[in-house]
Amino acid sequence: MALIVQKYGGTSVGSVERIQAVAKRVKATVDAGNRVVVVVSAMGKTTDGLVTLANQITGAPSRREMDMLLSTGEQVSIALMTMALQALGQDAISLTGPQVGIVTESDHSRARILNIRTERLERYLKADQVVVVAGFQGMSQSVDLEITTLGRGGSDTSAVALAAALGASQCEIYTDVPGILTTDPRLVPAAQLMRQITCDEMLELASLGAKVLHPRAVEIARNYGMPLVVRSSWSDDPGTRVTSPMPQPRSLEGLELAQPVDAVEFDAHQAKVALLRIPDRPGIAGRLFGEIATQSLNVDLIIQSIHEGNANDIAFTVNRDHVQQAEAVAAAIAPALRDQPTDLDQAEVLVDPLVAKVSIVGAGMIGHPGVAAKMFSTLAAAGVNIQMISTSEVKVSCTVRVDQCDRAIAALCAAFQVNCSPRHQGNEADNQAGGHTPQVRGAALDPHQAQVAIRQVPDRPGMAARLFQRLAEAGVSVDMIIQSQRCHLVNGAPTRDIAFTVAQGDTDAARTVLDQATDMGWGEVIVDAAIAKVSVVGIGMIETPGVAARMFQALAANGINIKMIATSEIKISCLVAETDGVRALTAIHTAFGLCGPQGGWGDQTHAST
Ligand code: ASP
Ligand code: MG
Repeated sequence: MALIVQKYGGTSVGSVERIQAVAKRVKATVDAGNRVVVVVSAMGKTTDGLVTLANQITGAPSRREMDMLLSTGEQVSIALMTMALQALGQDAISLTGPQVGIVTESDHSRARILNIRTERLERYLKADQVVVVAGFQGMSQSVDLEITTLGRGGSDTSAVALAAALGASQCEIYTDVPGILTTDPRLVPAAQLMRQITCDEMLELASLGAKVLHPRAVEIARNYGMPLVVRSSWSDDPGTRVTSPMPQPRSLEGLELAQPVDAVEFDAHQAKVALLRIPDRPGIAGRLFGEIATQSLNVDLIIQSIHEGNANDIAFTVNRDHVQQAEAVAAAIAPALRDQPTDLDQAEVLVDPLVAKVSIVGAGMIGHPGVAAKMFSTLAAAGVNIQMISTSEVKVSCTVRVDQCDRAIAALCAAFQVNCSPRHQGNEADNQAGGHTPQVRGAALDPHQAQVAIRQVPDRPGMAARLFQRLAEAGVSVDMIIQSQRCHLVNGAPTRDIAFTVAQGDTDAARTVLDQATDMGWGEVIVDAAIAKVSVVGIGMIETPGVAARMFQALAANGINIKMIATSEIKISCLVAETDGVRALTAIHTAFGLCGPQGGWGDQTHAST
């Protein structure tokens, strides 16, 4: 008999009729021969309503009382859902998070799950009862047994954690959208439903998918290899399967990792190629990487920072075995990129065959200031100089000198208390049923970012660390960080530019931090709030040359200039002008063949629970 955990979001239990419809679905699952645990959210917009009430009393409610208040929403749903099941003749019982024994940290309003005592649940399941569990809540481990909540949207996390603790065969997330779409259908009506996506891709698409599926839930599913399905409560369509590789066996203690980083990865066999002083206009990156793709060379990191006058630098890394080919392509194309063929000051190729890439990875760094800063300060303390930096949603990668790689890894593993592995994602594509892995699974636009660039930051260990430490202390959450290849001598000392993006609302705070940092000895600070970030994500791009080229060419074909580029193994992000954002998203979504056959989902609503 299979055990299935089903989670229903707020809209799915938003009225008595909907609760009754869900109860029928649950009963049908039982009648088909399964044991079922149901996790529910608060009805409709109940949680928002409770937050509003609290704010009418005080602007600063205590986090403990907020948990006491918000946890009531789910308690209403479990009782009503259980009554609806009983009315259908289905034996069922409701339990709050504390009654189940969902033990969490005592950090109110954002507690992580430590473990789940499943004995009581299992007793009811053996007696053929459906157990209806309140999502989003637990009980702290302290002597006083406090009610805690997991943070907004946390019912998904409750459901996947329960599924992992019970060893369920599957966790199903029921919502009011058909599944996970290739992009936001309000921006690109041709968006279509993904049949399948990997957990790693889902995490990199957090800005697109977080409303449909809580990133912490995805991380648990990945760590425990729990099969996950996101589908509509209103239909029998299969929805989207969220897959994970076969995990290492793992203890159920410390179920949600308390630390933001869960692995240190490295690749000590890379080489760096940089093109310096190439023109800053649409089409240059497309041409360069198009040329590289025709040689079937697979590039790894690609980094382009803020332009300098009319020129820019682009650097990339390749497997060391292919450095000569890559250099030859770059050298051949460089003269063609010069504005005036006679101008020898332009377009120079620089190669370093001895670089290593070290990365930290973890979903816990999403919205968690200071993780990148800790990486940089750890490297600085180990005397490792960072050459280039590129970040994505769940990863920070630095290139360093290859002879410093071991030292860098040891220091990072100690600082973040994690194990180290070479790249781990490589064979996930092979593990997927169905064989064919698309290069790009989805595309996302984040229009709510601002770009900050600092020119001529002294190039010595510790500078990036100090910069991002100060931003973190001011509560500024930094998204994309880029340190490029460009190097200037200022008073005889080398300097580099560092650029990053912050949430638009944090722009002033970031500015203040930088204005106060008069001791850092850097040059001009440039802020541009009118930018947007477009990204593509796909596990298939690890093995496929030419993905970056296709993205850059699609932008060029629409006359869109790329302001900055940063990548991870499975994600490429470009900053463009804010006014180009939706056009850029549409162009890349089309270029990767993601559009639906008959117009996609544009006419459907895309609310979420
Ligand atoms: N009701 C909670 C919220 O709205 C938890 C959830 O629905 O996932 O955040
Ligand atoms: Mg939700």
